[in-house]
Amino acid sequence: MLSYQHAYHAGNFADVHKHLLLHGVIDHLLRKETSITLIDTHAGRGVYSLAAEETSRLHEYRHGILPLWESREELANHDELLSDWLAAVAEVQPNDQRLSHYPGSPWWMGRRLRSQDRQLLFELHPGEHEHLAGQTLDGHVRTIHGDGLKGLVERLPVRTPRLCVLIDPSYELKQEYVEVADTLSTTLRKARHAVVMVWYPLLPAGRHHELLEAVKAHGLHKVWRSELRLHEPGVGERGMYGSGMLVVNPPWGLDQRLASAMARVAPLLSSEARYQGDWWVGE
Ligand code: SAM
Repeated sequence: MLSYQHAYHAGNFADVHKHLLLHGVIDHLLRKETSITLIDTHAGRGVYSLAAEETSRLHEYRHGILPLWESREELANHDELLSDWLAAVAEVQPNDQRLSHYPGSPWWMGRRLRSQDRQLLFELHPGEHEHLAGQTLDGHVRTIHGDGLKGLVERLPVRTPRLCVLIDPSYELKQEYVEVADTLSTTLRKARHAVVMVWYPLLPAGRHHELLEAVKAHGLHKVWRSELRLHEPGVGERGMYGSGMLVVNPPWGLDQRLASAMARVAPLLSSEARYQGDWWVGE
């Protein structure tokens, strides 16, 4: 039985990186009228209360969304993506002056869903799925209690002309790094133009290299990499020191929008934080 629950980490620095990128991608894709299917293979519970017992245990959001929230007026004047993103975070606060909730990926993906679009959310943990299903009211959104990697592949090709996928596992099982790369490859074989995002942790053990190398070995094209490092890992360190994402078929201009937003975000997270975006595999 898997034990990971995202509520312990909601709103941390990795969520900030992941959801800013996700927001940039969705914002771009919804500029076109053509219908789209949005699939979140590892959805979590949706919107998180920062006062929840699990979240209060580690308070990771204090080193993630909180410093950005506290600087939101100044940030709003400097960067469009960031300003838009922080305004969206304000939408889930019952009192818009106080940060009390943080929205997860199902919310970021689905917040501007139109009548022609569809959203599919997979979640394997029964308790997390129950929370998610309780928050999902829109008729165009389906939540599925099951394995997101298998479920994604089984549903391809989708009925809409366009597809966007987020793969955001907890990597509790070591084989997940390679399974994610295999699923990515199968997905792109069945839906060549899909925009697919994959999140991975930067840990001192360096297992994310297995994912990156497997992606290369599968011969995928147009794979853009976005990495935020809080610091370089010291000897004997075990915790997550950075957050990485791959985006296959990224929308035009995403690299520059992210670089500009992250140049403002990184110093608020850590004085040593560094951001880098580059092509992992090009054209
Ligand atoms: N995507 C969420 C967000 O950004 O708000 C966070 C997801 S969290 C990192 C990973 C989630 O995947 C957990 O809720 C976990 O229960 C779930 N999970 C683990 N293995 C899974 C699987 N094989 N299929 C679907 N969900 C899974």
